[in-house]
Amino acid sequence: VPVDLSMVIAEAVDRSRLPAEVKTIDLRVGGDLPRRVHGDPDQLTMAFRNLIDNAVRYSPEDTRVGIGLSSRDGIVQVTITDQGIGIAPENQERIFERFYRVDPARSRSTGGTGLGLSIVKHVVSNHGGEVALWSQPGRGSTFTVRLPELEEGLDDLSGLGYEDFTHDDAAL
Ligand code: ATP
Ligand code: MG
Repeated sequence: VPVDLSMVIAEAVDRSRLPAEVKTIDLRVGGDLPRRVHGDPDQLTMAFRNLIDNAVRYSPEDTRVGIGLSSRDGIVQVTITDQGIGIAPENQERIFERFYRVDPARSRSTGGTGLGLSIVKHVVSNHGGEVALWSQPGRGSTFTVRLPELEEGLDDLSGLGYEDFTHDDAAL
């Protein structure tokens, strides 16, 4: 079904408002008009929740987490940027693996199972998109999600092989 990504992101951000407030992290969404993609709103919400949850979780107090939404050449781009602990180059591929956590001892206090990013990667690739990561230890991280944008007038995509995404409760 057509999914408004700005609504998905607003919902995902809501989940992190309280944790961000507790750490006085300035959590902000900026960007474009509504951007639509084709897919499963629940899965997409879960994926963005993970990314935003990570950004807040792996950041110290009094920093900023920004979420940006833009579109170019038929691709919607969502960036989640933090000023957190960052990820060393040698770990940047592995964090997308199931159960992989950079520092289980230190991050025990921050909870988590190490599944979040593997789910993000699956959901995004199931939607025909990709996830990219820029990060520098001690400076922060930016996760970029790119998804094919749904063009105007393409609401009815039945018969194009998108049926797998259709939920009874997911109709928007
Ligand atoms: P959960 O399953 O609850 O999401 P998790 O957050 O540990 O647990 P992932 O979301 O898959 O698991 O992240 C894997 C690891 O990547 C984290 O344990 C952390 O070490 C690192 N990581 C993820 N996002 C960030 C980030 N924004 N800044 C720094 N490190 C990060
Ligand atoms: Mg996580």
